[in-house]
Amino acid sequence: MTDRMRIKLDRTLCDGFGICAKHAPEYFSLDDWGYAVLVGDGDIPERDRDAVSRALMDCPVHAILEIGERRPDGTGIQPLREPDLENLKTEDNEAEWGFSR
Ligand code: SF4
Repeated sequence: MTDRMRIKLDRTLCDGFGICAKHAPEYFSLDDWGYAVLVGDGDIPERDRDAVSRALMDCPVHAILEIGERRPDGTGIQPLREPDLENLKTEDNEAEWGFSR
């Protein structure tokens, strides 16, 4: 588990209110149309966590997302499992697993 904060910005959601750039200008800038651009790679040092968290919480369209390894119960997020390719349900084996349309 790490206390490091990581964020990403979904620019498809951004409505250009500019609140993030006001709260944390080191991490968000605005393009020529007023839409947010993430500055840097999304790694937020502890000293800037409050400002970035405020930007995240005040974004009216929730375009700023925290990529977390932390959970409320303190356990880490399980890694994604590889799909079971041997038992994958496809149209080729449809009769075996009873797919109905
Ligand atoms: S606060 Fe949200 S909507 Fe506003 S500019 Fe930033 S990311 Fe876009």
